[in-house]
Amino acid sequence: MKNFRYSIYEAKSAYLLFSLSFFLGFLSADICTADNATLVTQQRQMLHTFVEIKAYGDNAGAAISAAFDEMERVNRLLNNYDNTSEISAINKNAGGASVNISPETVEALQAALKFSSLSGGALDITVGPLLRLWGFAQEIPSTKGAGPHAEEIKKARLYVDYRSLELQQAVSGGAGTARLVKKGMWIDAGSFSKGYCADRAIAVLKKQGIRSALVAAGGTICAIGRKTDGSKWKVAVRHPRKDDNFMTFVPLCDASISTSGDYERFYEKNGRRKGHIIDPRTGNPVERMQSVSVIAATGLESDLLSTTLFVLGPAEGSRLMDSLPGTSALLVSHDGKISMSEKWPEKVILY
Ligand code: ADP
Ligand code: MG
Repeated sequence: MKNFRYSIYEAKSAYLLFSLSFFLGFLSADICTADNATLVTQQRQMLHTFVEIKAYGDNAGAAISAAFDEMERVNRLLNNYDNTSEISAINKNAGGASVNISPETVEALQAALKFSSLSGGALDITVGPLLRLWGFAQEIPSTKGAGPHAEEIKKARLYVDYRSLELQQAVSGGAGTARLVKKGMWIDAGSFSKGYCADRAIAVLKKQGIRSALVAAGGTICAIGRKTDGSKWKVAVRHPRKDDNFMTFVPLCDASISTSGDYERFYEKNGRRKGHIIDPRTGNPVERMQSVSVIAATGLESDLLSTTLFVLGPAEGSRLMDSLPGTSALLVSHDGKISMSEKWPEKVILY
């Protein structure tokens, strides 16, 4: 499963990198100078995608390398397709003993459980059995014949319930234990692993003294500070149906943006698009959204919330954003209708 999702994400990332490079005023140079500061850009193929980090600062090169190493380390804890990860250990022990997990895994799972609860189960990281049933637990997603039968969906749903993930932590910020109560349950980290790894990269960059940087990992982009000219970073949000058009450009400063879309990992069945985000409450792939972008304080939150709102849809999703400080969303429904929550920072939509 080493290259799981890689080919699909390559297309998205190439686009993302272009959008970032575009705003930084160059296309492929590794180093350039602006406002007397040096901008260093490095890319690494990881997390089944391309990750790009841009940072200003004298020690930016070394800081970026350390940030990439940290992302790789944390991904080894979270990747449920890596047999040796902590998430895999929880999955393998489902129905059995609880598993010791590191502070990072605890932090990510705590956030996932919080938004699962706030969304009434629209987000549910124990959605694994349904992802497998719908053919998304493989490199090229597909199902045979007419797809899963209602009875099979009903049965798989018996193994999907975030409330059956027991999480314990003795001291805030410390290590802990986790246990899935039923054999056959399976956590999937797809809704948060890239966002959380990006946060860890941001933490390392800051520790190394970097005060202006961008980390782009798949559909998540996290920003430290502003550009050296004092302006906020600008990030392009692509149109879910027009590959080469940006819907809008949003300012970002010490915040993160994540986009979940139906345009990268999907297959067609009887003329209908089946995408990789499943509504755990029905057991079916969500068909009513094309894309959702969420801005939040951290990559972990924006990544989790973009998946959450994709399931909730515009009305409930916007309500959730309005109730959570520092969050906002831009949503495109299946019919192309665009909506935004009150605090979404850019009202101008170009396409
Ligand atoms: P990416 O950042 O890779 O584009 P998203 O943040 O949009 O992905 O999350 C989609 C992924 O989340 C799916 O590929 C799957 O692994 C997982 N997933 C699908 N449905 C749900 C759900 N209802 N709750 C939690 N995770 C989900
Ligand atoms: Mg997400």
